[in-house]
Amino acid sequence: MTGSDLRLPAKPYLSEPGKAGPESEYIDGAWRAAAKGGTREVLDPYDASVLTVVSEGGADDADTAVAAARAAFDDGAWARRPAAERGRILDRIADFLQRDRAEIALMESFDTGKTVDEGGIDVDDVTAVFRYYAGLADKDTGRAVSTPEGVSSRVVYEPVGVCAMITPWNYPLLQLAWKMAPAIAAGNTMVVKPSEITPVTTCKLVELCTEAGVPAGVANLVLGTGAEVGSALVEHPGVDLVSFTGGLATGKRIMASAAETVKKVALELGGKNPNIVFPDVDLDTAVDYAMIAAFFHSGQVCSAGARLIVHEDVHDAFVAELCRRAERVRLGCGRDESVQCGPLVSAEHRAKVEAAVARGVEEGATPAVGGRRPDEPELADGFFYRPTVFTGCHGGMDIVQTEVFGPVVTVETFRTEDEAIAIGNDTDYGLSGAVWTDDPGRGERVAAGLRHGTVWINDFGPYLPGAEWGGFKRSGVGRELGHAGLDEYREAKHIYRNLAPEPQRWFD
Ligand code: NAD
Repeated sequence: MTGSDLRLPAKPYLSEPGKAGPESEYIDGAWRAAAKGGTREVLDPYDASVLTVVSEGGADDADTAVAAARAAFDDGAWARRPAAERGRILDRIADFLQRDRAEIALMESFDTGKTVDEGGIDVDDVTAVFRYYAGLADKDTGRAVSTPEGVSSRVVYEPVGVCAMITPWNYPLLQLAWKMAPAIAAGNTMVVKPSEITPVTTCKLVELCTEAGVPAGVANLVLGTGAEVGSALVEHPGVDLVSFTGGLATGKRIMASAAETVKKVALELGGKNPNIVFPDVDLDTAVDYAMIAAFFHSGQVCSAGARLIVHEDVHDAFVAELCRRAERVRLGCGRDESVQCGPLVSAEHRAKVEAAVARGVEEGATPAVGGRRPDEPELADGFFYRPTVFTGCHGGMDIVQTEVFGPVVTVETFRTEDEAIAIGNDTDYGLSGAVWTDDPGRGERVAAGLRHGTVWINDFGPYLPGAEWGGFKRSGVGRELGHAGLDEYREAKHIYRNLAPEPQRWFD
């Protein structure tokens, strides 16, 4: 049996084509079908076959879910629970994630096309995030403020209320965990809406939340499109906060329509992330990381190192080796152990990547390798695209400035440290970037100069649950992870007490 013979695990919320309608929405503690009976076929990106059928809700489902979340919040019992209890629930979710690790990794691989190994890494990362917020839940719940005599003053943190969580298709489980874990820690209730093309592991995580003791109405799930369910949540007067991860254009739309009800908005948007290589590093290692930065998960990573900026002295050797390795990347079914890289997520997304590559060629960039679909007949039905390296690039090109979100890397050159920093900052985005150098002082200077939310020195890609993640400039608003990731889901309330009030006679 090969990986492509494996089957998606059977679940009550997933239906087979032609079978009775699924109940994949979770509202007020019960699985249910969409109110109008809508369904959607979810495709396997490996071969475009129908993977499963799920409910497809609409604005009415969003309304019902917000009402359930509102009631569970306004009732007060969940928010008043000792924070340590919510921490224990988060710990149990982490336990169950590890118990079901293999199953969840497989589900994520089926849904997104990524390899099962990548799915397993996601489960471990998500587990660490739940553990981190389990530990933080009952820490730092308030503080005393120094006061004049006769006054007591303290700041306490309270949950924001009903949170809408709208997530993308590239890391469905992981991006949701970054929102759900701190929101539960702080005592919020929520309505979750995953990308309509990758709903499977979101259903699974909601199932685990219930098993772990999250009460009815606290974590609700509605499936459907962004245009219908997503925008209904953003506009809903019963929602207090929208936390969104996705593309820049959608983020702008959400920010504008959330203004109508003055909701809190947290946005994690795109990136065009520089990977700067000085000539003093070991090129073998730097090329190895540049490959991962550009092509891991077919480049469908918000922090992908899609913009290589290489010192002119090593440019030719670096690019030759990069191209040699890019040509050898083994594409295929994410369930096959020998495969290094799965397909893109959908036909529509591949068409966008192809259009971006065509624009790059028109602008005069040279596709040194890739720039095409693979030749293998067994990959013809799936949404595959070859790793692509563009040389002869400069900052005035669209291919250098616009996020492609596919296996496409552009290469530019620089001469001086200042020039490297300037090129690295020549983008509307500011999510992440890296610098490779053996000179620690230079590494720190470049890290200080880059206007990006995360900077790696001699690495690319890792994040830590305890370190804030988020964007400068147009890469977003707010932070996930770390302490600030918890603060997104809390309101600070100042309680000031006059210990001995006496008349002040101002108006006498
Ligand atoms: P997208 O913006 O198309 O969709 C994201 C989510 O928003 C989906 O659930 C979608 O249904 C919903 N949506 C779409 N239109 C909406 C609307 N009008 N109102 C409310 N919701 C709406 O993004 P995508 O294509 O799913 O994901 C790719 C993008 O996500 C890339 O730009 C990537 O950089 C970004 N991303 C960022 C991070 C980060 O941490 N900064 C992480 C992962 C992905």
